[in-house]
Amino acid sequence: MVLAPAPMRYRARVSSTREAALPAIIARALARPGPCLFLTGAGISAESGVPTFRGKEGYWVVGSRHYHPEELATRAAFGRMPAAIWRWYLHRLRVCRGAQPNLAHQAIAGLAHALGDRFLLITQNVDGLHPRAGTPRERTYEVHGNIAWMRCSRGCEGLALVPEELLASDAAERLESADRAGGAPPPLLGCARCAAWMRPHVLWFDEHYDEASFRFDSSLRAVDSAALLVVVGTTGTTNLPLQIGERAVRRGVPTLVINPEPNAFSALVQGQPETAFLQGTAGHWVPRVVALVRDAGAGVAVNPESNLKLASGVPDIAGWLAAGLKLGLGTDGAASNNDLDMFDTMRTTAMLHMLIDDDPRSMPAQTVLEMATIGGARSLGLGDRLGSLEPGKLADVIVVRMDTARQTPLYNPVSHLVYVTRGDDVRTSIINGKVIMRDRQVLTLDAAKVIADANAMAACKNH
Ligand SMILES: [Zn+2]
Repeated sequence: MVLAPAPMRYRARVSSTREAALPAIIARALARPGPCLFLTGAGISAESGVPTFRGKEGYWVVGSRHYHPEELATRAAFGRMPAAIWRWYLHRLRVCRGAQPNLAHQAIAGLAHALGDRFLLITQNVDGLHPRAGTPRERTYEVHGNIAWMRCSRGCEGLALVPEELLASDAAERLESADRAGGAPPPLLGCARCAAWMRPHVLWFDEHYDEASFRFDSSLRAVDSAALLVVVGTTGTTNLPLQIGERAVRRGVPTLVINPEPNAFSALVQGQPETAFLQGTAGHWVPRVVALVRDAGAGVAVNPESNLKLASGVPDIAGWLAAGLKLGLGTDGAASNNDLDMFDTMRTTAMLHMLIDDDPRSMPAQTVLEMATIGGARSLGLGDRLGSLEPGKLADVIVVRMDTARQTPLYNPVSHLVYVTRGDDVRTSIINGKVIMRDRQVLTLDAAKVIADANAMAACKNH
């Protein structure tokens, strides 16, 4: 019997050592402060069926002439024949509307919600599929614009959605007569302030990136602070994306490149530490990378008093800390921990674990204090903004009195905070620079009224 060789099939390729190294690269990257940065290009949308408009399918006929997209997507062409350019963009917008976000778009959107402030997306795509998949607008820099939006061609401020009426098939045909009529835009495409033509909100080939429309400076700044850069489906033929890649590698930002074929980005990361070229489609690699980032970025909220009251067991805090997990301390809710006192929680944590570990040195006061402050911030992915008193971080400060009889004498302030202090020793609370309580006086709400309301609601419930 002769065995025929299996037919050649496309497979995602990466050297096996690289794939095995991926979880560690991502875990080390996420241990750094700063955002997890995704940079996406046309490759991610190609899997949704959005054409690049650069190949054959991009040709467009105006009158009897065939145009390349590079000729149409210019300010110069818009100046000559705005209605014809609009007709082309309305066609493209209809194509993009017909496409659906794919697994890669969805995985990135899910990660955006999981990471919150630690996530940022820079996309070259104007098709709007990332926002449609649910990636929050404020965490998405559309550096080439978005064809669902338009703005004044003379530079009046503000964006407007392209009117739905223009997407009807006959509306675009009627538009073209505006060019022949010579100049004035039809009502739906006139600027509300200056009456000039509105234009698609995209970056044209004869234009430059800027901050106001395309977040140019913000994008480059984001690279400088990034913990990880993931480049998906972009060839690096345009200026800003390639600058981002070069900057990341120069600064030693761990970088993953996902693309079916080697490209300028895969060449950039070749031989660099803490990088990998993951050859294959976005649909194959992005969900895998996202799952690893989610795992690496996870933090744990330990709620020992709640665990005690509910008899849920005791976590191996010392073991978890030694393994490098990000641990924060919490009280849990009033149903299982009643007084919600973080000082009480610190004290219980320390004493409980000394007992469990049978070792009075196993849980130093300093470790417990760190879990209650910077550890909590890190476990939320906000360690670069919260959790310690440092220049540039949010001003979250409490003032604790340490001169009561209970606190006298004072030998070690950290030990005192963990073992002696109570919630009502806090005199003043400042949150993000705003004084919320001064000398036990809460300034943002009427404490007596809140207590009365709570009693009234409890009475209501009991009857
Ligand atoms: Zn205007």
